[in-house]
Amino acid sequence: MKEPFWKTKSLAEMSEAEWESLCDGCGKCCTISLEDEDTGELHRTNVACNLFDTNTCGCGDYANRKKKVPDCVKLTPKNVPKLEWLPPTCAYRLVAQGRDLYWWHHLNTGDRETVHAAGASVRGQTRPEGRLKMPGLIKRIMQWPEPLDASTESSRRSMRDKAKKRPG
Ligand code: SF4
Ligand code: SF4
Repeated sequence: MKEPFWKTKSLAEMSEAEWESLCDGCGKCCTISLEDEDTGELHRTNVACNLFDTNTCGCGDYANRKKKVPDCVKLTPKNVPKLEWLPPTCAYRLVAQGRDLYWWHHLNTGDRETVHAAGASVRGQTRPEGRLKMPGLIKRIMQWPEPLDASTESSRRSMRDKAKKRPG
């Protein structure tokens, strides 16, 4: 049986359609993470980019996202391995690491709902950034939902004011 493209191709070798289909729709990269400047530790929040639609768990205007949100980071084969704020479950990150996709990925199940059913997405769990400043963001630190077969990463911890905001 022929191996699927994500097992045989590198990110750089994928067609545009294959690249786009790789996104599992988890929405985690559209949330804000805070990085402790001393330790480099990342703290996830349930605050999302203002363009993120929490009900669909997707970008509100994907085609024009860079125009509307200039600091939105476009993923590329080159930058994916360097973006430490991408979630460990991100399909691009997994492929870049030579790992397989999780069972709930729609390319395995044929159903874009399974990422949500497995608890691997942030659908319906975020609020928009709005005018929130750092103290408000710190109050929104949370442990992301972990999919059924993924190991837990970090638990909620206290943050200091020197935390800096990171995209994603
Ligand atoms: S974290 Fe990765 S898989 Fe999830 S929505 Fe973002 S790009 Fe797609
Ligand atoms: S602009 Fe970028 S970060 Fe914001 S919702 Fe769209 S894809 Fe996500």
